[in-house]
Amino acid sequence: MLAEIITIGDELLIGQVIDTNSSYIAKQLNKIGISVYQITSVQDDKQHILNALKDAESRVDIVLITGGLGPTKDDITKKTIAEYFNDTLVLDTSVLENIEAIWKQYVRQTLLQVNKDQALIPSKASVLMNKLGTAPGMWLEKNDKIFISLPGVPFEMKGLIDDAVIPKLKDKFQCPFILHRTLLIHGLGESTLAAIIEEWEDALPKYIKLAYLPSLGNMRLRLSAKGFDEQKIKDDVQKQIDAVIPLIKDEFLGFEDEDHSIEAIIGKQLTKIGKTVATAESCTGGKIAERFTTNSGASAYFKGSVVSYATDSKINILGVSKDAINEYSVVSGEVAESMAKHVLELFKTDYAIATTGNAGPTKGDSDEEVGTVFIAIATKTRVYSEKFMLGNHRTKVINKGANKAFEMLLK
Ligand code: ATP
Ligand code: MG
Repeated sequence: MLAEIITIGDELLIGQVIDTNSSYIAKQLNKIGISVYQITSVQDDKQHILNALKDAESRVDIVLITGGLGPTKDDITKKTIAEYFNDTLVLDTSVLENIEAIWKQYVRQTLLQVNKDQALIPSKASVLMNKLGTAPGMWLEKNDKIFISLPGVPFEMKGLIDDAVIPKLKDKFQCPFILHRTLLIHGLGESTLAAIIEEWEDALPKYIKLAYLPSLGNMRLRLSAKGFDEQKIKDDVQKQIDAVIPLIKDEFLGFEDEDHSIEAIIGKQLTKIGKTVATAESCTGGKIAERFTTNSGASAYFKGSVVSYATDSKINILGVSKDAINEYSVVSGEVAESMAKHVLELFKTDYAIATTGNAGPTKGDSDEEVGTVFIAIATKTRVYSEKFMLGNHRTKVINKGANKAFEMLLK
């Protein structure tokens, strides 16, 4: 079963909005065994949309479209789809009721005609009710091909994909079972890792695919398998995982099941043992705090952060001594450790992370080389720090610094 995704909107083609819809849809389709053949972004332009629909129809079984369903004149997807299907728009009363309900609850102004018009649907379409917005999803079929049109707003699109599209596709087709397991590894480059696991990799059953996914400071190793015998797939993949972990044991951080990043793994562990953490961040500028708080439930273990970026903030807010800064430099293990100790006391946590470094491109307040980052971890009984050289690209230094900090805490 093959699908294509067409995302519609001028904003995508001028680089104003990043097309995250396609990646979400592709991920969900892959999970039920539907491969995505192509992803296309087109302007809010009738002829371009018609061409894209025709091309996609000639190649695949399922065409998923997002965007252009809004009430304004630039949103022309619905009219264009009606034209493509030689169809007319008719009023759908259940959609109108949904629009009126949303309007009453959130907008509290008179419903305009353009909003009522959102309840006009191609007569051949069945409606996928959008509880989160006024633009309904639509499902159309033509010569065994399926066309699904969804709103562009990401959370509305996700709601419809999860609650309507995927269940409906699963009902319609017998979908194979697909398993992805991703191992999170730190401190090994791609080629080093490949050399270590070479023999294991060569002996993998053909139907288990391996992918190396490097990201700043971390490696993800993904095993994927697809088939109809769910239990056999699970057993086979587990056997391979059990065989590879001993080869990378010191560098293995855990599993990244779906959206589980290193900070989520830490969050789970902290919640389990009932411990808390705070951060004092200089060169990472709150990145570590941001990544903690991205996980729901973070309030159980993450107490807060001091972004003490300027040297005087380290002194005045955190209480790092001026003498230590003069003696060791503001970018030093001593200062990182002092920051960690003070923030641990400030937030009364069990663990604290502190970072201080030179993210570049210029040296700033210290003489340390660009890319130098000191990270400290404090507990009630211990404080220690490590020095890292993280390169000369500012964003990279910040992201790698955050990764290293999480790795140190996890160890
Ligand atoms: P609505 O009636 O809810 O506005 P719509 O289908 O008209 O739905 P669009 O106007 O196309 O939606 O897009 C609304 C917003 O959704 C855009 O401003 C953009 O921020 C976001 N968006 C649209 N397409 C995408 C996409 N492919 N990836 C990520 N965001 C998108
Ligand atoms: Mg639009």
